[in-house]
Amino acid sequence: MDLDSGFSESGIQQRRRASYRRSRSLLLAVRAANSLRRLMDIGLAVLLLTMMSPLMGPLWIYAHLSGGGIRRLPRLGRWATHFEQYEFDFPGTSAGFALCYLRCLPALLNVLKGEMSLVGPRPVSPEATIIGERTAWKRYDLRPGLLSLWWLRKRANIAYSSEVDLDVEYVETNSLWGDFGIAIRAIPAAFWGGGVSSAPPELKFLGVRIDNLTMGEAAAQIVGLTRSKVPAQICFVNADCVNISFSDGKYKDTLSGARFVLADGIGVRVAGNIFNQHIRENINGTDMLPYLCAATEEAGLSLYLLGGRPGVPEGAAAWMRERYPELRIAGLRHGYFSTDEEPEVIEGIAASCADILLVALGAPRQDKWISAHMHELGVKVGIGVGGLLDFYAGRIPRAPVWMRELGMEWLYRFWQEPRRMWRRYFIGNAIFLYRVIRERVRPQRELNPKEGTVL
Ligand code: UDP
Repeated sequence: MDLDSGFSESGIQQRRRASYRRSRSLLLAVRAANSLRRLMDIGLAVLLLTMMSPLMGPLWIYAHLSGGGIRRLPRLGRWATHFEQYEFDFPGTSAGFALCYLRCLPALLNVLKGEMSLVGPRPVSPEATIIGERTAWKRYDLRPGLLSLWWLRKRANIAYSSEVDLDVEYVETNSLWGDFGIAIRAIPAAFWGGGVSSAPPELKFLGVRIDNLTMGEAAAQIVGLTRSKVPAQICFVNADCVNISFSDGKYKDTLSGARFVLADGIGVRVAGNIFNQHIRENINGTDMLPYLCAATEEAGLSLYLLGGRPGVPEGAAAWMRERYPELRIAGLRHGYFSTDEEPEVIEGIAASCADILLVALGAPRQDKWISAHMHELGVKVGIGVGGLLDFYAGRIPRAPVWMRELGMEWLYRFWQEPRRMWRRYFIGNAIFLYRVIRERVRPQRELNPKEGTVL
């Protein structure tokens, strides 16, 4: 029946019709996107299987010879239906880089069968399912993926609140374009990413020791240190800091004397990978601050913020007060003071009776400053935090997450301050990499008497 004939529509009817048309076109768009995604999954899976087919036979034989074969892992798929994910099983073989990825090849058959996607939420085993978590069910709206946002963030060392949250974030924001981005960003993450499983508790290269803690652990340790009678110092080191430690003996001593030295940035992470000492999490001060604020608030401790331009510590404090209302900020002060004003700055901090002091004067100055004045400051923990207050005060925007996933935060920083940063990133990183490779090959050259003198 033609609704338009015979009588004019009331406003309500017109609105209903428009809303019906809108939801119908939305539904059609979702269906079209899903079909397109499925078509692309099939096309790419066929392509990958064809390209990898010469390898599949030998891998299958190798898996059987090593006592394995094809493993079937129980998984929950779309709408929480059960399926088995295929993967090569190489028992007794240490998971080298190539094997680690080749192992997943049979899961392309799951993609063809319609049980998985190339990109999607993380495939979870039925035992690991969080039944009570209401939002967790959203992760089953889509087929689980060979690649997931969780895998990417984990490999790229970007902190996330929980695996479920990442899956839900993926489901709520997914698009073909987004999947394409994840696939592209997965390439550098696969090569440079951290390998949590093989990470030692402490790394040492180029004369610098790095404590391999996660952000949660570091925040908990810092809070724990406030119970000690001896004040403790925490430093963050990036490639530039390691370079500085070569020419600045005082800074090198400061790093050796620090209670914890934490890794910051892709340079140190790449160096760790070259030395086969994987960094568990890129815990730069900026990413760690929310963890630290939460832990400090819970423990009833107080913070003092020193550094940045006038107005910057105030801005960072406002950010903290808004999110952590119970957090005590014992005091704050900008970082542009002369040597003559230094005693007054130190007195101010001591009088505040703060437990934890964050110093943002730039490395290595901030770290040497903390070390030199630790016993006058009266605080229990002093942390050098670089440009952290600038980020939280909103003075300098942080690189978008996709850039951080690509390990490109440095490029964003360079873009913001090219004149200051070009030397650090282009010259400094090259020197750092040269030093790392030199130290890496040195022991092998020493073992080989024909090689001649050691560099
Ligand atoms: N800064 C300061 N006083 C100074 C020089 C610098 O408070 O005399 C601050 C500056 O405003 C910035 C921070 O120190 O907030 C240095 O940030 P940067 O990003 O350079 O840190 P880095 O990465 O060099 O450690």
